[in-house]
Order: sequence, then structure tokens, then C-alpha cells
Amino acid sequence: MPNVMIVTGGSRGIGAATAFLGARAGYAVVVNYVSNGAAADKVVAEIEAGGGRAAAVKADVGVEADIVALFEAADRLGTLKVLVNNAGIVDAVAPVAEMTAERLERTFRINVTGSFLCAREAVKRMATSRGGSGGAIVNVSSAAAKLGAGGSRVDYAASKGAIDTFTVGLAREVAGEGISVTAVRPGIIETDIHASGGEPTRVAELSASLPLKRAGTPEEVAQAILWLASDEATYSTGAILDVSGARAILP
Ligand code: NAP
Repeated sequence: MPNVMIVTGGSRGIGAATAFLGARAGYAVVVNYVSNGAAADKVVAEIEAGGGRAAAVKADVGVEADIVALFEAADRLGTLKVLVNNAGIVDAVAPVAEMTAERLERTFRINVTGSFLCAREAVKRMATSRGGSGGAIVNVSSAAAKLGAGGSRVDYAASKGAIDTFTVGLAREVAGEGISVTAVRPGIIETDIHASGGEPTRVAELSASLPLKRAGTPEEVAQAILWLASDEATYSTGAILDVSGARAILP
């Protein structure tokens, strides 16, 4: 049975880059997506063309039944060793004074509850006390967790703050179960997420003001995720790694 890596939101951006590196590291990769089946199929085809194994699985991480089905699909591929909790969304720029309950519920359901429920399913399978053989969970937070994103998206930033706390807490909870739990905090990365939040020119506008004078690439984040998920990082459980080009590195 091959070792399996699930990448939520693996069809595009940081998730797709992680899926490619995961396949290169020898995992059978579950490329999860919610609506863009063509993008997920393209990632799978590219992995298979390179001799790797992958499967595209549609599941909304904002829906519990979808998450359960996602992990059952992964079970059919092999033994789950790595979960990358990458799927996440931003809403339009808005002040807190204008945020609706619906917006807040959606942001937290997808970014936070989805990550919790995916981790729940992963721990059930990986925990040595439950017959598992251990594994790694890597959460994708954001530099926004430290910056707060005032004047832009405080809801998104707060959801990523929750991911940071979740990472530390779960790492301690399952430390005796052979499961490592870590996170990356990306800075400004060149992906579609900015356009999805109504800011297609955000990367171009901010690049000159960043310490490295450029945004990061999805591959630069994926490399950190793969390392945190690897056997080289076994004593790093609980760590949250800034991958932000020196943006927002102070607590
Ligand atoms: P992206 O390019 O917008 O891609 C988002 C991915 O998530 C897509 O594969 C999308 O699937 C999937 N997705 C969205 N909602 C989902 C849902 N409800 N269920 C399952 N999958 C869902 O995003 P990205 O920039 O790579 O971001 C990935 C992660 O990094 C997010 O957690 C984000 O908050 C975090 N991050 C990004 C940046 C940045 O600057 N880009 C910075 C810090 C943190 P479809 O293709 O089907 O739509």
C-alpha cells in the first residue's frame, strides 16, 4: 500500500505546488478541490506524466460529510501519512463594521472548522493508540495571523490566528501518538487567491514594499510544507514556520 498525502485545495496555488512536490517525494497524492475539476485533473495528469500517483477528489471542506468522503477516498489509495490543511478562502476587503454573520460563518467554517475536521479524520487514522502508524499534519496559516489585516480582512486574519493556536494545541495533544503537527505562515504569494478576493493587482502593487521586493512563489511555500511533513522535521512538531520573505516575522 503506498503512503498517501492529502492536500486540501490541491488544484491550484500553494496546494498544487505541494501536490507536485509530494508526488516527487513518493506519496500517492489526493488532490482535493471544490469546484475547479479541470485544474485538479491537470495537476493529476502532470503528476502521472512524471511517473507519480494521484487522484482528484471533489470535497468542500466546509461540509462535514464531504470531508468524511474525502478521507474514505484516500483510504482506497493507501495509508494516510500526511495531511496538508491548505484549502482556504478570503472574502472581499471590508471593515469589521460591515461584516455580516454569513460572511464570518463562511470564513470560519472553511478556514477553521474544515481544518479541524480534516485533522480529526487524519488523527483517527494515524494515531498509534488507534492502530495507526503515525504521520504528519501541516496547516497553512498566514502572516495575516500576526498582522491582523486591519482595514482589509480582519476575519481572515483571525481565522488564521485560530489555525496557529490549533497547531500548537493539537501538536501537544497527539505528541504521544506518532503524529507531528506544524504550520506554515506564508506572506504574499503569487496565486489566484488575491483575484478571488477582488484584488487581482494586489501582488503587483505590494511587491516593491516587501522586504525581498517580490512576492513568494507557491513552490517556495510548498518546499517548507514538504520539509515539515518529512522525517527530517520530527522534533519540530508544534512549530509554525514563517515563509513570508521576512514580512511579519516578529510575534
Ligand atoms: P488559491 O490559489 O485561491 O487556491 C485555493 C485552493 O483551495 C483551490 O485549490 C480551491 O479549489 C481550494 N478551495 C477553496 N475553497 C475550498 C473548499 N471549501 N473546499 C475545498 N477546497 C477549497 O489559494 P492559495 O493562495 O494557494 O492559498 C492556499 C492557502 O494558503 C490558503 O489557506 C490561504 O489562506 C493560504 N495563504 C495564501 C497566501 C497568498 O498570498 N496566496 C498567503 C498566506 C496564506 P478550486 O480550484 O476547486 O476552487
